[in-house]
Amino acid sequence: METKRYYLGVENCDSSRTGAWEEAIQEAVNLLKQGELVAFPTETVYGLGANALDPQACAKIFAVKGRPADNPLIVHVASMEEARRVARDWPREAEICAREFWPGPLTIILPKREDIPAIVSGGLDTVAIRLPSHPVALALLQKAGFPVAAPSANISGKPSPTEGKHVWQDLYGKIPLLIDAGKCPVGLESTVLDLTGVTPTILRPGGVTLEQLTEALGRVEVDRGVRGEKESSFKPRSPGMKYRHYAPQGEVMLIRGSAQEKREQVEQHLRNKTEGQKIALICLEETAADLEEETLDKVDLLFILGSVRQSRQAASRLFEGLRLCDEHKINLILAEEMPEKGIGLAFMNRLQKAAGQKNFLPPSQDKVF
Ligand code: AMP
Ligand code: MG
Repeated sequence: METKRYYLGVENCDSSRTGAWEEAIQEAVNLLKQGELVAFPTETVYGLGANALDPQACAKIFAVKGRPADNPLIVHVASMEEARRVARDWPREAEICAREFWPGPLTIILPKREDIPAIVSGGLDTVAIRLPSHPVALALLQKAGFPVAAPSANISGKPSPTEGKHVWQDLYGKIPLLIDAGKCPVGLESTVLDLTGVTPTILRPGGVTLEQLTEALGRVEVDRGVRGEKESSFKPRSPGMKYRHYAPQGEVMLIRGSAQEKREQVEQHLRNKTEGQKIALICLEETAADLEEETLDKVDLLFILGSVRQSRQAASRLFEGLRLCDEHKINLILAEEMPEKGIGLAFMNRLQKAAGQKNFLPPSQDKVF
C-alpha cells in the first residue's frame, strides 16, 4: 500500500488556518468512512485512527501495530455530547473532568455503551474516552461525526511518535494516509483516569498531572503500576500498563540522585565503555553543564532535554530522544531522572518502562506518594 502524506507544518496548525487542512481532513474522513486507518496529530502523540463503531476497521489497528488484543483503545470524541453517547453513565467526576480538562490530554474510563464494539474495549465492560485539543484532531473528529478509536501511531513496543516522521518510519506502506503537523506539543500520552471505582484512580500518568486532578476532584489515587512496582506483584488495572512499552533498541540505564551522584554514574559508565559500544546521554542542561569535557567527549550522542525549570518542555522531548538513539544505533542510553512531581510523574513512568524491569530503581527524590 502507498502511504500518502499531507505535510501541514506546525505553523499552519492554529485554528485560524483551517483552510490549509481542508483537503487533508476531507480525505481522512472519507478513508475512515470506508473502514480505513488514518494517522493524525494530537497534542499528546500521533494517533492511528479508525471509526470506533466499525469493529473490522478497529481490527486493522491491532494488525498494523502488532498490538495485543487485550490492550483496549482510547475513543476520541469531538464534544461532551458525543462522550456521553459513548459512556453508559456520566458521574459527577466525569462532568468535572470534562469541564476542567477537555479538550486536552486527559482520558477517562467509564462504563461503556453496547454499540462500542468489544474489540475497542479489549473485551472489558468499560471504555476510555478523550476529547483532544489539537486543532487538526478536533477538525477531523468534528467532520467525521462519529467517535474515532486511536492508539499511538507506532509499532507496538516502540517509543510513541511525537513527530510525523516517526509515524512515517514505523507505518509507511501499512496505512493509506498520514496527516503530518510536525511536533506534538505535550509529547507524552494522555493521563488515563479510571472513574468506575469509589475513588478516581490514575492508571497512567500523562499530560494532566496528579496535582491538577487532585485540585479539581479532591481525592485521587495512583495505581500501583504507575510507580513501576514489579509487575509480577500485582495485577494492573490498565491492560496496557503490563506490556514493556516505549522501548528503544539500546539498553536504558537511569541516572539518579544528587548532582554529584549523577556525575559519578555517567563517568563510571563511560570509563567502562567497550570497543564498538555507542553510548548516548539524555539529560537536563544543568547536568550536561556539570560534566567534564573529557567525559562528554566519550558520549556518542548527547541529547539535551532542556532545563529542569521548564519541565513540561523537557518531558515533551523524551520520545524524540529515545527514537534518535535508535537512528544512531546506540547500545547504551544513560537517561537522567526528573523529580516525580507535575509532569515528572509521567516522564519517569515512561522512562522506567523504557528501562524495563531489569534496570528498575525505586525513585530517589521528591516522592509524591
Ligand atoms: P495508547 O492508546 O496506546 O496510548 O494506550 C491506551 C491506554 O489506555 C492503555 O494503557 C490502555 O490499557 C488504557 N485503556 C484503554 N481502555 C481502557 C479501559 N477500558 N480500562 C482500563 N484501561 C484502558
Ligand atoms: Mg501506545
